Amino acid sequence: SEPLVQVSGLTKHFEERSGFFGGDVEQVQAVDGVDLTIERGETFGLVGESGCGKSTLGRTILRLYDPTDGTIRFKGRDITDSSYDELRPLREEMQLVFQDPFSSLNPRRRVGEIVEEPLAIQGVDKREREERARKLLERVGLQSEHYGRYPHAFSGGQRQRIGIARSLIVEPDFIVADEPVSALDVSIQAQIINLLDDLKDEFDLALLIIAHDLSVVRYVADRMGVMYLGELAEVGPAETVFQDPKHPYTKALLSSAPIPDPTRRDRERIILEGEPPSPIDPPTGCKFRTRCPKAFEECTAEPELEEEDPDHHVSCHLY
Ligand code: SF4
Ligand code: MG
Repeated sequence: SEPLVQVSGLTKHFEERSGFFGGDVEQVQAVDGVDLTIERGETFGLVGESGCGKSTLGRTILRLYDPTDGTIRFKGRDITDSSYDELRPLREEMQLVFQDPFSSLNPRRRVGEIVEEPLAIQGVDKREREERARKLLERVGLQSEHYGRYPHAFSGGQRQRIGIARSLIVEPDFIVADEPVSALDVSIQAQIINLLDDLKDEFDLALLIIAHDLSVVRYVADRMGVMYLGELAEVGPAETVFQDPKHPYTKALLSSAPIPDPTRRDRERIILEGEPPSPIDPPTGCKFRTRCPKAFEECTAEPELEEEDPDHHVSCHLY
């Protein structure tokens, strides 16, 4: 059957002015030709350094940004060019969970009102809204009585539970969770990740988890993608990518991550030189070649994301 989300050649460039008082307009190539499918019931983890385009990719798939190029299909339907009005009924089927859901919300609103607001917009009557919000508060590990409290009374982990309840109340099919636990204490992170994972099964969702923390992705993702400068360097089953990374960037990223794993004790640590280049003026050919310890002549030509093993794709001339 058709994947829930199918993205091909997805590209998002932003215009940015260099300097004050109207310098030149430059193109920030935030996302550059990404192919990706996500199935119902699947958790897909997206990793990469900050600024690599993960968040932009997630938001462009949700059509919170207009893509510059490429196509987005959701449940088989091409939504690449859908208008605001055409997208409105789809908005509730595709939700975004933020790092801190309350940074953009009114602290003077009660938790129950925050959770049920999407239903209010749909015109669901107050009694049903409240019943569903209370039920969902319990389901995400809070209490029905929390309905009347204000956000400031809650801890970071509890706030994220409230944010998750709000995103689930409209019964979406697809959730993009952008760094859902990176603002939380380590001791709370696993609880929230477990909650998302349980809810994914219970609600039959597809989940796109964006994280710079590799251990989060290893723990929860079925498949994963590694992004570098707006492109996917490697995509595969999460366990395969962790056990047998192919792309030199993936190897470097994993080798620097403090993941306790006895089977990997002998793996050499790869230190990458310098910062990632600017997405305004990325290297031609392989975008990783300015930092790649394995770069050779051929790397001035752009590699394609190709199948290395079944379901395991790598974008590198070594393969
Ligand atoms: Fe390194 Fe070349 Fe592979 Fe790019 S294509 S990752 S530069 S070896
Ligand atoms: Mg980001």
